[in-house]
Amino acid sequence: MSVRLDKLLSNMGYGTRREVQSLAVSGRVRLGADPLLDATARVTADDELAARLTIDDAALDPLPGMALMLHKPRGVTCSHKDPGPLVFELLPQRWRARDPALSTVGRLDKDTSGLLLLTDDGGLLHRIISPKAKLEKSYVATLARPLRGDEAAFFASGSVMLDGETTPLLPARLEPLSATSARLSIMEGRYHQVRRMFAAAGNHVEALHRDRIGRLSLPDDLAPGAFRLMTREAISELFGG
Ligand code: URA
Repeated sequence: MSVRLDKLLSNMGYGTRREVQSLAVSGRVRLGADPLLDATARVTADDELAARLTIDDAALDPLPGMALMLHKPRGVTCSHKDPGPLVFELLPQRWRARDPALSTVGRLDKDTSGLLLLTDDGGLLHRIISPKAKLEKSYVATLARPLRGDEAAFFASGSVMLDGETTPLLPARLEPLSATSARLSIMEGRYHQVRRMFAAAGNHVEALHRDRIGRLSLPDDLAPGAFRLMTREAISELFGG
């Protein structure tokens, strides 16, 4: 579908439409080797445009419909407006001015690290968080006290009731990793779910790290605070390839 270039670039955070027009008039927007002087021209926002359009000789930012994975460090918040460091501050400044905006796909607590997805594609976001998708999320929990040995059966029972809730949790899988650490894989995303599950089992989570969503693992070479655009293959890996 075609769109006016000034609207497209403005929605991608390159400035107001007027600012984008003056970028174009001054020859700073190019399609291949040719300056695109008229920003009111219509373009098709597709892979070919993304490959050929440059601004000040830099490749165009990802077109709308982007998804990325981020290694969330501890201490940053999944919010657009809370006080304190925000996950969005880990992204290029211009990406924070995009419309549609980038949103996190669900949330991780401020003190939880690990794999966080962000997208501006509402359809994709809903496909990932929908209970129908049955995407399992895996967390590695470091615990204050040694495991007793009965936690795996307790979490798998489908009858765990968290404080203040009226429906039991779906069965979850626990895999002990050491006396005081375990991997817990859950299908739901209730508020502080993993921490509350261990509290219900008489323990306390001291550190929590998400290392997998669906079939997608946090890449070993993605450092805390770093992010990577998701290819279509990585997105389909989420849903099982
Ligand atoms: N469960 C939690 O307790 N915290 C998270 O951030 C995610 C799952």
